[in-house]
Amino acid sequence: MQKIQMKTPLVEMDGDEMTRIIWKSIKEILLQPYIDLKTEYFDLGLQKRDETADQITIDSAKATQKYGVAVKCATITPNAQRVEEYKLKEMWKSPNGTIRAILDGTVFRAPIIAEGIRPLVPTWKKPIIIARHAYGDVYRNVEYRVSEPGKAELVFTNEKGEVSRQTIFEYKDKGVLMGMHNLDSSIESFARSCFNYALDLKQDLWFSTKDTISKQYDHTFKDIFQDIYDREYKEKFEEAQIEYFYTLIDDAVARVIRSEGGYIWACKNYDGDVMSDMIATAFGSLAMMTSVLVSPDGNFEYEAAHGTVTRHYYKHLKGEETSTNSMATIFAWSGALRKRGELDGLNELVEFANQLEEASLKTIESGIMTKDLALISELPNKKTVSTEQFLVEIKQTLDSIRG
Ligand code: NAP
Ligand code: MG
Repeated sequence: MQKIQMKTPLVEMDGDEMTRIIWKSIKEILLQPYIDLKTEYFDLGLQKRDETADQITIDSAKATQKYGVAVKCATITPNAQRVEEYKLKEMWKSPNGTIRAILDGTVFRAPIIAEGIRPLVPTWKKPIIIARHAYGDVYRNVEYRVSEPGKAELVFTNEKGEVSRQTIFEYKDKGVLMGMHNLDSSIESFARSCFNYALDLKQDLWFSTKDTISKQYDHTFKDIFQDIYDREYKEKFEEAQIEYFYTLIDDAVARVIRSEGGYIWACKNYDGDVMSDMIATAFGSLAMMTSVLVSPDGNFEYEAAHGTVTRHYYKHLKGEETSTNSMATIFAWSGALRKRGELDGLNELVEFANQLEEASLKTIESGIMTKDLALISELPNKKTVSTEQFLVEIKQTLDSIRG
């Protein structure tokens, strides 16, 4: 059998712990037998990040800007305990944060839906994709604990020294106080990423804020989205027969619960943080959640939404059998390969990505799954398999699909 050829390499970002083990097995069992895999390899494993003073992370993000498509394994974000465990020179920053800062993108999180793993909301038939703005608001706020009577003011001083001043509140007693910010440039790139991704998937885009209460702050988000839509995207959306629609967040929540899914829901930073966990849980499992970072200039980085599954890794190190779900990592690869195939006009590669996803779903739907899914699946003939066996089973399904 002739292997599928690639033109442009994928940027491959390797990672840590259990997902690093899965990463290698996916390549060996599900990719390399079929594809002459071309990648520009970056080892973002914690050890290598430490050795290179995190330069490797920066290099991998720059390579993504150069080539356009990356696939990333989950990585450890070091904390004090990790500094000790890996004898790190420094508590390196989150690789995802570093990559996002360079690519300036929006993260889209989408659930993988399989028969037998029923969403908790019975009407949901298709995925709901959450787009979370990843800059500012409460995540970059300034807070103050008011412990005595006094006056709180919002003061803005421009470069000429002119001052605008408003009273926030006159405290008669103790209380709390907070200031936060955002930037037109960041909201604009958030909006463009959302519009581009909606066109890419040919799905409707919903956007919600609390503009009725927040008449400057949230209303600016609404206005920027509308303005960019009218000027740059309206025609393209009409051509693709998809819709952009803004609604108040309360209304959005009610509509989401009643909907059957199949759209992208763009949220401000805090709303997206909370709603993405709600959506992920209601769809069934963190191990079935994929994630893609889309930059406003059209670069894509695919990954699983979950972490390095440390608890399973320690079992693996002790020689115990694990049953870790590789679906989200497989879909990160298929997403990246499909995108690469589309950009390079390689139909065979696009078709392979579709077949790989189909084989993965069929395997689960035939009752063969990892432990996390077996616990929630309603299929009568469930069979729990190991991490490795699950991949071998998918390969068998894939071979039968490919004929
Ligand atoms: P986690 O790796 O997502 O795992 C949390 C728990 O969720 C696991 O212990 C497991 O539950 C379950 N789980 C997650 N993914 C699973 C899968 N594929 N198959 C089966 N079960 C799965 O989160 P964490 O333990 O909080 O974080 C571990 C490390 O990952 C940390 O160092 C963190 O910094 C890093 N992290 C990285 C990313 C990223 O790179 N994008 C994201 C989040 C966290 P049971 O143990 O009950 O089976
Ligand atoms: Mg959260």
